[in-house]
Amino acid sequence: MAWSFALVIDPAASDVARTDFADTFTVIDPTAPALSVGELSTQRGDGIFESIGVVDGHPQEVEAHLERLAHSAALCDLPAPNLGQWRQAVATVADAAEPGESVIKLILSRGVEHGPAPTAWATLAKAADNTWARSEGVRVVQLDRGYGVHASVEAPWLLLGAKTLSYAVNMAAIREAKRRGADDAVFVSSDGFVLEGPTSSIVLRLGDVFVTPEPSGGILHGTTQLSLFAFLDREGYRTEYRQVRPEDLAAADAAWLVSSIRLAAPIVSVDGADLTLDRDLTASINEYLLSPRD
Ligand code: PLP
Repeated sequence: MAWSFALVIDPAASDVARTDFADTFTVIDPTAPALSVGELSTQRGDGIFESIGVVDGHPQEVEAHLERLAHSAALCDLPAPNLGQWRQAVATVADAAEPGESVIKLILSRGVEHGPAPTAWATLAKAADNTWARSEGVRVVQLDRGYGVHASVEAPWLLLGAKTLSYAVNMAAIREAKRRGADDAVFVSSDGFVLEGPTSSIVLRLGDVFVTPEPSGGILHGTTQLSLFAFLDREGYRTEYRQVRPEDLAAADAAWLVSSIRLAAPIVSVDGADLTLDRDLTASINEYLLSPRD
């Protein structure tokens, strides 16, 4: 990924009541080293992040991402981010975006070991070309996540539902999916419920209802899924949060992995069994997801 812009945000200045945070930002060279070796984000993955899609300079669903950043911070006992400061940081970074699709990453780290304050920064990079996945789809395998569906309640220290920087397990799941000849994975709880992809939410069409697993099941509540459900509701479709079993996925009329950057990738096979690719519906979903969304 080629980073084109980076901004360090001073979260220590964020408790000051004000409306302009420009002097809490420092533009840095995105190609030069920037972090201290004592950073807990790199030493322990101890921090949280957001990836925001940018289309022709417009950052998508900023409020939903900022709300989730605040939710992740609360789950991780990090100081509450000042959303006004982060909103201005997103706008500043988005101003540097070129036409086409880009990614803004927001990172809030616990900071430097024994240091006084969290560290925060935002970056801009050109997005990968996701045309193929959006039109031709992805083959998935279902992988055991190793937790029951109630783990987020029974073991909150697992931080399920927070978007933490500890993504090594998620990346390992994608590598395992590729080893098995697929493109991506779908996590299933140890008690047999479909959860989410390692970097995406899952949405199924079952007859005339669009379904996604309940976010209370220890999964990340996806901003793309939320936005897609609002679109489907407006289009007159029914949408529902409910528990999903692997047999529901196998019998689905269509299914997608949805996420902020790749957008809607139709699932064309599950564990080697074909699933219908609804090209027209997928195209209209991705057309909506590429339109400016607030
Ligand atoms: N679930 C996980 C584990 C993710 O990492 C992501 C995004 O990266 C999502 C779901 C989808 O979230 P969003 O639609 O906000 O990108």
